[in-house]
Amino acid sequence: MFVFTKQPSIANQFIAELRDVSVQQDRLRFRRNLERLGELMAYEISKTLPYHNVNVPTPLGVSKTQLPRQQPVLATILRAGLPFHQGFTNFFDQAENAFAGAYRGYALGSNDEFEIAMDYISSPDLSGKTLILSDPMLATGRSLEKVYHALLRYGIPAQTHIAAVLASPEGIAYVQERLPQCHLWLGAIDDHLNDHFYIVPGLGDAGDLAFGQKV
Ligand code: URA
Repeated sequence: MFVFTKQPSIANQFIAELRDVSVQQDRLRFRRNLERLGELMAYEISKTLPYHNVNVPTPLGVSKTQLPRQQPVLATILRAGLPFHQGFTNFFDQAENAFAGAYRGYALGSNDEFEIAMDYISSPDLSGKTLILSDPMLATGRSLEKVYHALLRYGIPAQTHIAAVLASPEGIAYVQERLPQCHLWLGAIDDHLNDHFYIVPGLGDAGDLAFGQKV
């Protein structure tokens, strides 16, 4: 498990701005900070990919280097995942992409009992590929689990990385128990989940902050 905030870096500033009530009302900045964290995580994950030797012709000779053998498949969960996902696509610019629409479906009259509802999925073939599944908020871990299993219908990836900006200890424990084969990449680990399964101190509702409040 890789946690960005275990050592200070510029990632701390992006995360602090996402959390800060006086900054987070600027939707453009909120989305851009999620995107910047996607870029930083793409860079860190890129160090774990398989590489091969390549000769690059230049106007004056040949440069030997190592390039990724294959681009990963980038998957995210609508809608909060979109700006974070954009950061991954900025770096893995030739990657194939997968999307799932998953959300908390609350029983009528209940604010704290929910099932994960999923009503959209699209994916390329995942067989033998590297899958990066991103979701900015790892709260309960239940939507990540549901989407991961739904994606397996498109083939078994060689390895899977799960990336989140903020995670709760409960969500981490859940994912580690249910999806032990997945590697976790986190911005920060927060204190706990509240009664409505929101991360505390967290940042609030990432989807609403990025795109406006839903009804
Ligand atoms: N989703 C959010 O947007 N925020 C949380 O704290 C938990 C899930």
